[in-house]
Amino acid sequence: MADVISPKSPFKEDIQQYLVESGIKEKSDAILGPFSDISNQVAEALWNAVLPGSPGSSLSWELLTLTLLMATAFWFFRKGRGSKDAGGRERPANSLLHYLLPREIYTHQSARVDIGLYLLDRGMMPIWTVLFLGSVAPFVERNTIGVLQWAFGASPGVEPTIAWRLLYGLVTVLIADMIFYWTHYMMHKTQIGWAIHKVHHSAQVLTPLTRPREHFIAGPVWALGPAIGITLAGSIFAWVFNGDITRITVWNVGIFSLLYALNGNFRHYHVSFRYPRWLELWLQSPGMHHTHHSYLEKHWDTNLGLVTSIWDRMMGTIYIADKYEETPWGLAPKDQAEYTSLRDNLVTPFREIFRILRKKPKTYPGSATPELAAGKTPDLSA
Ligand SMILES: [Zn+2]
Ligand SMILES: [Zn+2]
Repeated sequence: MADVISPKSPFKEDIQQYLVESGIKEKSDAILGPFSDISNQVAEALWNAVLPGSPGSSLSWELLTLTLLMATAFWFFRKGRGSKDAGGRERPANSLLHYLLPREIYTHQSARVDIGLYLLDRGMMPIWTVLFLGSVAPFVERNTIGVLQWAFGASPGVEPTIAWRLLYGLVTVLIADMIFYWTHYMMHKTQIGWAIHKVHHSAQVLTPLTRPREHFIAGPVWALGPAIGITLAGSIFAWVFNGDITRITVWNVGIFSLLYALNGNFRHYHVSFRYPRWLELWLQSPGMHHTHHSYLEKHWDTNLGLVTSIWDRMMGTIYIADKYEETPWGLAPKDQAEYTSLRDNLVTPFREIFRILRKKPKTYPGSATPELAAGKTPDLSA
């Protein structure tokens, strides 16, 4: 587990010390044996995804700068069009600065809540990462390799050529994408999932810090998927290549990061970045996520994918918006009232889960009759 924590991490020493003192390091080394490489890579990927400053994070200075440079190019080529105001409507920008960093977005209460939730998430994520590293990843790894050996015998020891490495990258992305879609689908379509995930959707403006905006109890749910997905792909190819995956995994994380980096920041940025329609039918453009954040009924539960549009198409949840379609961000007004301040966003999910478990109908302040949760389809079941 020596390489688990990024060298730039401010928590590195604390966590290393915790791992040794708690016995997790000793246990995981014993369980992982020769395959500890894969788990290290999983941990590194998860860790990088949440920390600013690390190369794989969409919050690294390099990627934030790239986002601003690309948005500057959009400003020139689109003659100032394609950026949205705090209501998710196309609005004319009177200067480049107004186009890139509009005051009404970055001083919005929602943007301040993003910061509070982000700091909490950042504090909690290493804990989830470490927990999964010690449990889920080794479990998936041992069982996957065990099943492959049982079914097909010893590793074929395939030479990891470029083509094989690309295939490995592709398989990883497709597995991770599938797991993301279904995790996200369940967050939207179950009552408890939605009570928690509303925190992400209560963002009334989109900033790069909206991406990690989640309630801290959603952390394990989002960390579990990648931990399983990356480990599953890694284990299959560890068997194919007879354990020699170190170089491949670096390359593989590179591909995933590249696709995600292109997408990551623009998914939660007020400047819309769309692909041509034919491409959006296959890959999620960042602008498709603007629709996902809209509280208009026609946009509910659409574009749930991360990298590809394959699952959205199969499940009928794809929505290709018109060029300058309005996407007012946030929750439907009644729900928004319960998820506005930092305190609301931390407390309301617990209150909602408690209500759902006691099977009490949803009521809103000032309304005597129970109602369905606004902003969702009526056929929800927990
Ligand atoms: Zn969502
Ligand atoms: Zn989002």
